[in-house]
Amino acid sequence: MAVKLLLANDHIEGIRYYDTYRKHGGYTAAEKAFKMSPADIVEEVKKSGLRGRGGAGFPTGMKWSFLAKPEGVPRHLVCNADESEPGTFKDRYLMEFHPHLFIEGLLISSYALGSNATYVYIRGEYAWIPDILEQAIAEAKNNGWLGKNILGSGFDCEIYVHRGAGAYICGEETALIESLEGKRGNPRMKPPFPAIQGVWMRPTVVNNVETLAAVVPIITMGGDEYAKIGVGKSTGTKLLSVCGNVNKPGVYEIDMTCSVEEFIYSDEYCGGIPKGRNLKACIPGGSSVPIVPANLLLKTAKGETRYMNYESLSDGGFATGTMMGSGGFIVLDDSQCVVRHTMTLARFYTHESCGQCSPCREGTGWMYKLLKNIEYGKGKMSDIDLLWDIQRKIEGNTICPLGDAAAWPVAAAIRHFRDEFEWHIKNPDEAQTRNYGLAHY
Ligand code: NAD
Ligand code: SF4
Repeated sequence: MAVKLLLANDHIEGIRYYDTYRKHGGYTAAEKAFKMSPADIVEEVKKSGLRGRGGAGFPTGMKWSFLAKPEGVPRHLVCNADESEPGTFKDRYLMEFHPHLFIEGLLISSYALGSNATYVYIRGEYAWIPDILEQAIAEAKNNGWLGKNILGSGFDCEIYVHRGAGAYICGEETALIESLEGKRGNPRMKPPFPAIQGVWMRPTVVNNVETLAAVVPIITMGGDEYAKIGVGKSTGTKLLSVCGNVNKPGVYEIDMTCSVEEFIYSDEYCGGIPKGRNLKACIPGGSSVPIVPANLLLKTAKGETRYMNYESLSDGGFATGTMMGSGGFIVLDDSQCVVRHTMTLARFYTHESCGQCSPCREGTGWMYKLLKNIEYGKGKMSDIDLLWDIQRKIEGNTICPLGDAAAWPVAAAIRHFRDEFEWHIKNPDEAQTRNYGLAHY
């Protein structure tokens, strides 16, 4: 049975509300934290080995220690709740069903970082969640967990919920900051990183929802104990949202020692592939990470078992591996068409490109057009190499990672499923009429 830290109270009715959360041990980590110094909390988070759960997996304690502290300049914690990566919905689950766990994590982290005004930037499409969060914030405030002089510590903190307007790019941390400032959400060049110049040019830590919620068990059990869960540099637990061709889609918490095979086929998690079909491929970390065919998903290129953690999933680099990414686990069975799937993603990225840099603005559109031609039986063999060439020219040549995110799925699809692209080109009539089921996301 896997260790549960964030979803341990998932079965408790009413855990969304303050009284129930408190009755089941809620805010005891905050009580403990306020007896510690901010520096000691940062130290515990460092010891825990917690890595950012938004997708990049950057060490959280290290990010916190980068935060500049110039005299007299306010600093801020901003929570990136703009969870927009296709296939990813685990932060929504936390905010919707465990808002107080999230707020407790925000509170402890705000205290550790010295943020008196903390912001939650939430995806516009999560239209019903801000009300849940605002109700929970009001409950926390009424019970003395927010506002002035919290627990007599002299520390003041307010949490503000800011609704996004439905742009994927606003999940990129510097675009998010621009949008929070009231401007168009165009990414900024990095460096400077937000830790030095963030919102209103003040030092800012931007962390994901799950990352901040994980601070609660870290303080409760201590960083060293947290680091014992998991394996290697994949410490603690990880939430995954599962969609596509599995019997039990949903949100799962794993301790990163389970194998990919166990995750897909065991009844504790995905429960296998419906209708007895075969596994074809998987995108284990949200749409931006490379697709992996079944043979390289369950075993690495060296024939070793692949595990659900940062290191194992990326074993072999992009040639034979992929990434943990945002935790959006998308499963494709053998009825799915990789060309169609790649075209759908390309349409998404060209629509969401902010247009600031030419390789992304132009290249994503070109890739979509070529993929559309191939999918609908109008492609040429040379289009496959042209697609490869375009993705190569986008990767690493843009201001923000959206360019890479658009390039990688195309590269991986061609690398692993070139025969499927060729089949579409050689069989244009069949390609045009064949009624592939759309992937379920
Ligand atoms: P990144 O590696 O550039 O940065 C990770 C974090 O570390 C950032 O907060 C950055 O400010 C900080 N950082 C890195 N180097 C630093 C330094 N030297 N000093 C101070 N801070 C430093 O990655 P990113 O652009 O933040 O995120 C990319 C990832 O986002 C992708 O891997 C993708 O999986 C993920 N993603 C997630 C979603 C979602 O909905 N969850 C959506 C799109 C993309
Ligand atoms: Fe905008 Fe794309 Fe450039 Fe990112 S890579 S700044 S989304 S044009």
